[in-house]
Amino acid sequence: MKFLFSDYALGAAVATDLVNTSAQVRRSTGETLRDPEGLGRFLDEHGIPADAAGCVRRPTEEDLKQVLALRRELRELLESGSEEEFADGANALLRREAVEPSLERDPDGRWQWYAGTGQRASLSGELAALIGIGLLGVLRTLSHDRVRHCASPACDGMFVDTSKAGRRRYCMPAVCGNRLNVAAHRARRGAAGQ
Ligand SMILES: [Zn+2]
Repeated sequence: MKFLFSDYALGAAVATDLVNTSAQVRRSTGETLRDPEGLGRFLDEHGIPADAAGCVRRPTEEDLKQVLALRRELRELLESGSEEEFADGANALLRREAVEPSLERDPDGRWQWYAGTGQRASLSGELAALIGIGLLGVLRTLSHDRVRHCASPACDGMFVDTSKAGRRRYCMPAVCGNRLNVAAHRARRGAAGQ
């Protein structure tokens, strides 16, 4: 699998969405990565090729087990208190598989730095490299305070904010923002009725 070193937003988005697939965050719908098929759908949604590991196949039970372990590790990393701890953890993710840098033309013909993982890299190792590059890019280009907890009191999610303004508040804006709006609306209505 090959990805752009400069595209930290992709790795950051995958990191955000991966931690928020857990039952801890999905209180109403439950665990998203229940089986290898669920993991396959997650990869498809992010445009990550299912043959990421170098052979054409769908994720296996073993892939799922490893990705769930990566998710637990990632959650801890996002919660890390210091920038140094965060950098160390993200560097460790990046180094899990051998990542080879190369300078190649992108589809528009411009020269770009790419990171490539080898033919025998595991799916979780490739995700770890992609996420590691994303988190390190955020730390270098933006800042560590772009890693935050969801502002909804009813949600235990986390996210990495790569927006230009840096004012993102929710892990899943369509869900957590709305839930809060609905609660506020009910509270107002309740207060008006008294
Ligand atoms: Zn949330």
